[in-house]
Amino acid sequence: MTATPRPERRSPEEAATEHPEITYIGCARCGTLIAGLDGRYACSGCGWVNEWTEGHRPLPEARRRRPADTT
Ligand SMILES: [Zn+2]
Repeated sequence: MTATPRPERRSPEEAATEHPEITYIGCARCGTLIAGLDGRYACSGCGWVNEWTEGHRPLPEARRRRPADTT
């Protein structure tokens, strides 16, 4: 791997596609330590999920087209 530092930041759009960061938090409902990505969590024990807006980064934009009615 090249270790050349790049001072220039990429555009916010590019940054949003970087690897998500794994973070941990205690479940707000049952206290279980759960792992999440970019500050978004879902507890497998009690089903608690935090607000997606609490994430550290904006969600990447969905590029999917609208579902077509024809199958
Ligand atoms: Zn929980």
